[in-house]
Amino acid sequence: MKKILLSVFAVAIHAMVFCQKQTVPDQIHAAARKLEPKTILWRRDFHEHPELGNREFRTAKIIADHLRSLGIEVREGVGKTGVVGLLKGSKPGPCVGLRADIDALPIVERTGLPFASKVKAEYNGQEVGVMHACGHDSHIAIMMTVAEVLAGIKNELSGSVKFVFQPAEEGPPAGEEGGAPLMIKDGALENPKVDVMFGLHINSKTEVGVIK
Ligand SMILES: [Zn+2]
Repeated sequence: MKKILLSVFAVAIHAMVFCQKQTVPDQIHAAARKLEPKTILWRRDFHEHPELGNREFRTAKIIADHLRSLGIEVREGVGKTGVVGLLKGSKPGPCVGLRADIDALPIVERTGLPFASKVKAEYNGQEVGVMHACGHDSHIAIMMTVAEVLAGIKNELSGSVKFVFQPAEEGPPAGEEGGAPLMIKDGALENPKVDVMFGLHINSKTEVGVIK
């Protein structure tokens, strides 16, 4: 997991940094290495405390508090439980969007990991186990780390970076709206308008360092 996190995360940062200075990639690598233990702790914490689509209240609060601590402008409650952060660089330029999904699945965890989920919740009228079985815990931790790295080099950034933490990627509960369409309806991609958007999804079958 450690290797997966570091490589996906390094690629994610590279994908969105559009600055000219040669020293910046080195700064990014150094910051990523330094933050990696925190990334792993975040991922394990989210793994142990998963929340179903449109119910990501604890998750969203941790994300919003972290972004605010970095001086990033934050909008909460976007598309119900979504969080949008805006990091403004020091020079004019495009707005690059980065997206991470934040919801878990109605699945009982049987991994036996020390940070395994014991969470139960009500889902479409039934009691279910809840588990980050799709990797969204990693996506949140990676993007919180990317936000911290980029906030540390904001004077080198041309344009802005919009961090879109999206709820209910697996679909909202029956009878509810949610996910990307509701976030878009709620203005997630406006003010400023997002010029280009990147997302990532980890996959245990893909080699470390490979993007498909
Ligand atoms: Zn997924």
